Amino acid sequence: MSADYEVLIVGAGPAGLTAGIYTARAGLKTMIIEKKFPGGQVALTDFVENYPGFPEGVIGWDLVSAMQQQAERFGVEIRTEDVVALKDGATPTTKIVETDQGAHSAISVIVATGASYKKIEIPGEDKFYGKGVSQCATCDGAFYKDKEVIVVGGGDSALQETLFLSRLCSVIHLVHRRDKFRAVKALQDRIFSLGDKVKVHFNSCLAEILGDQKVEGALIRNTLTNEKWRLPAEGVFVFIGMNPVSAFLKGYVKTDEAGYVLVDEEMKTSVAGVFACGDVLKKEFRQIVTACGEGALAASSAENYVEEVKGIAYK
Ligand code: NAP
Repeated sequence: MSADYEVLIVGAGPAGLTAGIYTARAGLKTMIIEKKFPGGQVALTDFVENYPGFPEGVIGWDLVSAMQQQAERFGVEIRTEDVVALKDGATPTTKIVETDQGAHSAISVIVATGASYKKIEIPGEDKFYGKGVSQCATCDGAFYKDKEVIVVGGGDSALQETLFLSRLCSVIHLVHRRDKFRAVKALQDRIFSLGDKVKVHFNSCLAEILGDQKVEGALIRNTLTNEKWRLPAEGVFVFIGMNPVSAFLKGYVKTDEAGYVLVDEEMKTSVAGVFACGDVLKKEFRQIVTACGEGALAASSAENYVEEVKGIAYK
């Protein structure tokens, strides 16, 4: 058997980096392939308050940079490539990961590709994407210092990012389609404590992002009355949930209808030797700490699998 790697991890967010720390520390030849930059969504998260071990909280980028350094210290190789397919190799115990730059073989593969932010799919969204429409307050918030912006969504992301923007922007219009937030109560309490800085528009959604050369506001639709009105703003931040990054697994590993990967309690997918962890999984609770826990579990299962395969191969 001559696979390039014993463990190949796809995705360098907290789940993938934790899996790498565990497999490399267990002495397995490990590579992580990441499409963009290590850290996943957390790298773009302003501040993390609920990851254990940081009583005062920690900057998202600092947390994932430390995870990356820890993985590299144990010998994990990290490459920037875009994975396009996962398939069986020439032998039953080898997998092939195809990327935009070639192919790599491995005995086991851990899928930790996470999920990406959804778009609203309304007129003006694509036109102004990256030029007034954003999905990262940490990256783009500074462009809107002392300006009015709109945040769309009612989950933890929308409220967390609104808190960040409240330190920069003059007013944040938080537009949510229902009359209740989905976000945890602690975040809701902090949002409501900001008074007029955050204007909450319940039962409202965006029908169009308005502007000629730049964003000038949005057309808001009341979801109860269908009445439409114009809300002036210079930026629109969209946080309405996620889509799993799993297109490259289609037809190979079992997923649900939305594309979230199905695993058992040991993070085993429907294909022997392929494991998954983090936000790409079908599950309810998506936190950094749960992603890390699943990463450690996937690593342990991959380690057992590699040992089993090598035991067979050496007989
Ligand atoms: P989410 O929890 O799925 O919330 C999405 C929000 O967007 C919901 O309020 C939803 O409304 C709304 N929405 C969905 N589709 C919409 C549409 N087409 N138009 C308008 N609004 C729409 O997503 P998330 O906030 O990105 O969070 C994802 C996961 O990450 C969650 O499990 C969350 O707990 C976790 N997270 C954790 C932290 C943290 O630990 N601090 C921070 C961020 C995220 P409805 O409520 O009406 O469905």
